[in-house]
Amino acid sequence: MTRPFVLDPLFQSTKAVSGIGPRLTKLFEKIAGARIVDLFWLLPSGIIDRRYAPKIAAAAAGQVATLTVTIDEHVAPKRPSLPYRVHCHDETGVIDLIFFNVKGDYLAHQLPPGTQRIVSGRLEMYQHMLQMPHPDLIATINERESVETVEPVYPLTAGLTHKISLKIMRGALTKIPELDEWQDISFIKQQKWVRWHEALKQAHNPQSEDDLSPHSPVRERLAYDELLANQLTIGLLRLQQKKSKGRILAGDETLHQKALAALPFELTKSQKQAIEEIRDDMRQPSRMLRLLQGDVGSGKTAVGFMALVHAIGSGGQGVIMAPTEILARQHEINISKFAHRVGLNVVTLTGRDKGKNREKLLSLIASGEAHIIIGTHALFQEDVIFKDLALVIIDEQHRFGVHQRLQLSEKGERCDVLVMTATPIPRTLTLTVYGDMDVSRLTEKPAGRQPIDTRLISNERIDEVMEALRRKIEVKARIYWVCPLVEESEKLDLAAAEERYLLMKQRFGERVGLLHGRMKPHDKDVVMAAFSSGALDILVSTTVIEVGVDVPEATVMVIEHAERFGLSQLHQLRGRIGRGSEKSVCILLYSPNCGEVAKKRMTTIRDTEDGFIIAEEDLKLRGAGEVLGTKQSGLPDFRLAHPEFHGALIKVAFDDARLILDRDPQLLSTRGTALRTLLYLFERDTAIKYLRSG
Ligand code: ADP
Ligand code: MG
Repeated sequence: MTRPFVLDPLFQSTKAVSGIGPRLTKLFEKIAGARIVDLFWLLPSGIIDRRYAPKIAAAAAGQVATLTVTIDEHVAPKRPSLPYRVHCHDETGVIDLIFFNVKGDYLAHQLPPGTQRIVSGRLEMYQHMLQMPHPDLIATINERESVETVEPVYPLTAGLTHKISLKIMRGALTKIPELDEWQDISFIKQQKWVRWHEALKQAHNPQSEDDLSPHSPVRERLAYDELLANQLTIGLLRLQQKKSKGRILAGDETLHQKALAALPFELTKSQKQAIEEIRDDMRQPSRMLRLLQGDVGSGKTAVGFMALVHAIGSGGQGVIMAPTEILARQHEINISKFAHRVGLNVVTLTGRDKGKNREKLLSLIASGEAHIIIGTHALFQEDVIFKDLALVIIDEQHRFGVHQRLQLSEKGERCDVLVMTATPIPRTLTLTVYGDMDVSRLTEKPAGRQPIDTRLISNERIDEVMEALRRKIEVKARIYWVCPLVEESEKLDLAAAEERYLLMKQRFGERVGLLHGRMKPHDKDVVMAAFSSGALDILVSTTVIEVGVDVPEATVMVIEHAERFGLSQLHQLRGRIGRGSEKSVCILLYSPNCGEVAKKRMTTIRDTEDGFIIAEEDLKLRGAGEVLGTKQSGLPDFRLAHPEFHGALIKVAFDDARLILDRDPQLLSTRGTALRTLLYLFERDTAIKYLRSG
């Protein structure tokens, strides 16, 4: 199956647009892409309204206006630093057109004295005199209609002017083809939407600010097309997955009971429910693909452990993948505690294991002696061979790409996959990434947890905060001190943390530790162990403690320059405390002159510990692409849809796609053929591949 011919011109290089040369091609590549279709998706970000056409006497400075004037006289400047002036008038007053750096005599040609001209541009008042510096447009009287319009304004980049970008975009838009309708006709009518090519043209020709809104009918239509393409892709992937058979993992009830008894606590209700949902999935002949969502500290590890026990009870092996070395080691400690009591062998393999030691670990994995294998991306490597991999658990998945996820599950024959995430992805977003992937949620915190007292304190009072820490240390509290995030620079992060560390040591003595990303793995372990055992009172660190680290005795966290952190980052950080039965305090030190958005982030954190509320707020403040990090999360890279605005449409697209694939799983009907074009238009290659093979 190949791309329909009608789409070929769209996927040509932008070089095919008239007036675009190699320099402009590069600039457009920067803001949109290298192909014509990329220009289609570059929607205007503003408008210039040239319909304001007053007489000179009534014209207001500061506005863009289109004036009809008679040209009087050209006045060349006496010195090159002064502007070239063209005096003009109409029946109500006079105005000067102003030009800097005029070369040659082109102005004399464009603005011959004695003739009438239309000029359009922004008006200025200079020494009580109305003037128009560098008119955007100069036209003759019979061209009036083409001037008095609303012009779209496109996102620009250095070297690209509005005038040029408008010209190129107009050229590109002449190539919009008419395509057969892929949407349901009655749905289109009900929404009062226009046809695709019509919608695209209108989206590029906004008449008012309202037309720029993501909720304008034409933008909604275009967004819906993209969302439907996205949902069809996920739907087709699911159909394919169902075809690839899984295996029945029956589990072992005795081992299960023994493992339950080995847990040092009573499971919460939602932990129990999640475990049952997972075990049910594993008993099915189809492959499990389940998401376990639970806020930091909700106890996902214990649930994961019980899933591993089920896999091992069925004769297989299980893997836990962690995004960082520290987390893998943390899992090793926690899982080993449970596993050893049940007689299960745990092996950890990370990038740090080399040579003989690595070979030994590999042989334990290959022979099946290792029941549970914990690791980082080192587990993706080709020489890692399992005896019988039955279950893959991926922890904190937003740090892994979709591609890596697939790589690991290819190592297990039809193995089950459980993804654990602490990011409470809003439901609408889950749909765009996983479709109806089954979800288990841990909604309660383990018993005995106390709410965290979060306070905002100006960093001018940092000394008082330090003194308060002294009192906390006297009562044996353990303290995290998180250092400011310096944008884009791990080096500077480090410098700040080291400086703080030295200051803290001066003040508090030797029981202060430092943890940062550049440390050797072994040194990190030593510091973490010292903090964990109580040999250190204070742990100064960069954000490396963000995920997963678990020291229940830590009850105080100070975050310096909290205004520089993102919402979910603050939430993740704070999740490191409040894990024991003691009351915890989190202090957000902030710079008083920080911006409004930063303030909103900090008050949100102060006012709630509910990860879902925080995630929704995050989505509002930042937009979807950034919430999870498009590249890392596997979140689709939407060009026209904005999940933060189009949440309702996502749900409709999901239902629509399901209905379509129920009736026409190979997309062979007339509408199906049009839908294939839609998939090509949005380059959903995976979906197309499945259609071909199916
Ligand atoms: P997360 O969901 O953030 O991965 P963990 O699995 O690390 O959470 O659990 C956080 C802490 O809570 C750990 O110390 C763990 O032993 C403990 N824990 C987990 N479940 C329970 C429970 N039901 N009761 C008491 N403590 C629990
Ligand atoms: Mg965890």
